[in-house]
Amino acid sequence: MGKTTEHKNRTIGKILLLSIISLIIISCGKVMITGRNQFLLYDQGQITSLSNQAYTEIMSKSTLSSNASYNRMVKQVGENLTNAVSRYVNENGIKNALDGLNWKFEVVKDPSVNAFCLPNGNIVFYEGIMSITNTPDLVAVVMGHEIAHALAKHGNERMSQETVAGVADQVIGTLISDKPQQTQALFGLAFGLGSQLGVLLPYSRKHEYEADRLGLIIMAMAGYDINVAPGFWQNMSQGGEKMPEFFSTHPSDANRIKKINEVLPEAAKYQSAK
Ligand SMILES: [Zn+2]
Repeated sequence: MGKTTEHKNRTIGKILLLSIISLIIISCGKVMITGRNQFLLYDQGQITSLSNQAYTEIMSKSTLSSNASYNRMVKQVGENLTNAVSRYVNENGIKNALDGLNWKFEVVKDPSVNAFCLPNGNIVFYEGIMSITNTPDLVAVVMGHEIAHALAKHGNERMSQETVAGVADQVIGTLISDKPQQTQALFGLAFGLGSQLGVLLPYSRKHEYEADRLGLIIMAMAGYDINVAPGFWQNMSQGGEKMPEFFSTHPSDANRIKKINEVLPEAAKYQSAK
């Protein structure tokens, strides 16, 4: 390798490093309520439009449930929880926390024990999970947790982390600004779309614990009984080898239940009458 090439490589290296540093500086966010700093490379607008496409695709292959009581319960709990979130963000002057989120609550006719929330706030429960979440408080445990993933922008954070991890062979600036197809591919990868539609890849432990904590706070704000949560996850951790979909992406173990018990007193401070 000639001296000029080496010099050039070093310069490119420096530019790359500088652009990563400046990206990190301009891309810092804070998770509402938990206050954790996070690194977000993507614009919520991009994330929302990709989520909208994914939602349309998933729903085009699904049938809406005709079970009136499932539909009523899921919509009611979803509205109560997200109304509580709206009240909180209004009272605290952080309305932009809801940018790009368009809450939607549907039940699909599918025996899978599953539920998910896309990063645009579109939430889907499968009929199969309704036999486990058979009270409004239990629906609120799952729904609060899913809403929390969207509010805390965990999807954006995961995509951002994957982007940075892939920086060795990609110039980050062009990846983000000029390559919508790559962004889309990354979105698909980050959410496991393409392989099994609607079955989202598991989040990291850190994101799961944060969604549990934030989810319980949202439940409390809306007046649901947060004390049903430890028992719910406890039952799920005893599911044996034939784990339903939801619990294979949300593994529950002694650690998770311990953490949930630890945050119950904090969540209780947000408790209000329903
Ligand atoms: Zn989760």
